[in-house]
Amino acid sequence: MTKISQLSQILYKQNSIPPGKNRRELMIVDMQKLNTQKIHCFNCTGTCCTYSANSMQITPIEAFEIILSLEVTNENLLEIKTKLLQNIKDYRLDHEIFLGKKNISHLRKTYTCPFFTPGSKGCTIKKDLKPYGCLGFNPRIENDNGGLCTSNTEILEVRQSQFRDLELWANNYLKKEFNLDWEKCEIPKAVLLLLEKMF
Ligand code: SF4
Ligand code: SF4
Repeated sequence: MTKISQLSQILYKQNSIPPGKNRRELMIVDMQKLNTQKIHCFNCTGTCCTYSANSMQITPIEAFEIILSLEVTNENLLEIKTKLLQNIKDYRLDHEIFLGKKNISHLRKTYTCPFFTPGSKGCTIKKDLKPYGCLGFNPRIENDNGGLCTSNTEILEVRQSQFRDLELWANNYLKKEFNLDWEKCEIPKAVLLLLEKMF
């Protein structure tokens, strides 16, 4: 789809935003290291991707990279939008709960990610294009299956500081170009809001 390639050209070629793989390398290497110690998610039911524990929120550039992973075309666009909309309705992500003036924030809701499939496959988003927070969240012992899984905040912070300025530019560019009024939101909402502005 030309709009997606045009945008990739602007972000990654003209403005030198490193591609998804490079910006996620630290977390991917960490995961590979865990895998060599037999610490992985293969036998888990996907606790961190489902309603029981998932409240992941993502930025516009992460939403764009999920769109890249989905390989959106004119043929599958409607199907993808319908799936996202249904997921948003199922988990009432279209109703924000305001926590009061003192907090000036909204309650983070839990939801099953629309890109999660039960079984051995789990996440259907390409590793190099997954939300940073998803990649940084891993088991720490063998066969844990969700019990003691945690975020490697050290690696996530190093990654963020490495790419802070470039990602800030990319997020501001997407916000301005597509008139987005959010910094971060739940995965299905972020992807649908961006898709609707793009197409
Ligand atoms: S993007 Fe993948 S890893 Fe992240 S919550 Fe969704 S299914 Fe899970
Ligand atoms: S990170 Fe933990 S909870 Fe999430 S899929 Fe892997 S083992 Fe399960």
